Amino acid sequence: FFAIYDRPFWRRDGLSGTAQSMVGPLVEIHDATTASGKPALFGFLGVGADQRAALGEEVLKQACLAQLAKLFGPEALEPCATLLKDWAADSLTSTAADRAGGGHPMPGSSRWVSGPWESRLLLAGSETSDSEPGYLAGAVIAAKRAVAEIRSRMDRE
Ligand SMILES: Cc1cc2nc3c(=O)[nH]c(=O)nc-3n(C[C@H](O)[C@H](O)[C@H](O)COP(=O)(O)OP(=O)(O)OC[C@H]3O[C@@H](n4cnc5c(N)ncnc54)[C@H](O)[C@@H]3O)c2cc1C
Repeated sequence: FFAIYDRPFWRRDGLSGTAQSMVGPLVEIHDATTASGKPALFGFLGVGADQRAALGEEVLKQACLAQLAKLFGPEALEPCATLLKDWAADSLTSTAADRAGGGHPMPGSSRWVSGPWESRLLLAGSETSDSEPGYLAGAVIAAKRAVAEIRSRMDRE
């Protein structure tokens, strides 16, 4: 969820715009002001996909703004614009099976590809990293591993 403002009023009050909440609806909030200075606050929703669908966008938006106002002051209630992107409702990103929260990927040594594809398909996404999966660091580690594997296979051929 993004709330875009005319001014970064929280900074004027000496606030960072960063917050963690166990209550929500936003559970992790950051100052999302752009490098060119367009002020915004951003947060990840901690509400499940089915609950989000049941509540509807307007109710969620108002709850997010109310939370931002509680944290950073009443000016938070008057954004110039808001944006709520629900990836679970995006049919090009998510299927029905994705609606149940799977949690963050855990480090492990899963064999991601097996059978006839094993010698033909390499996965380089962060989730396949054996350390820091699901994070930017994991993406770098997984990509390096995939490149090394491609080079090694090319050397063998
Ligand atoms: C909102 C958000 C906040 C995050 N915050 C953090 C954070 O603070 N710290 C952190 O460490 N991680 C964070 N992450 C996670 C991190 O961004 C990802 O783990 C990482 O970017 C994954 O990298 P990747 O290379 O595996 O995949 P991606 O970055 O998803 O790259 C895959 C690329 O493949 C492209 N692609 C897809 N299909 C095709 C196709 N058919 N043909 C060609 N190209 C295709 C996509 O456009 C994309 O550019 C965040 C993720 C999100 C969504």
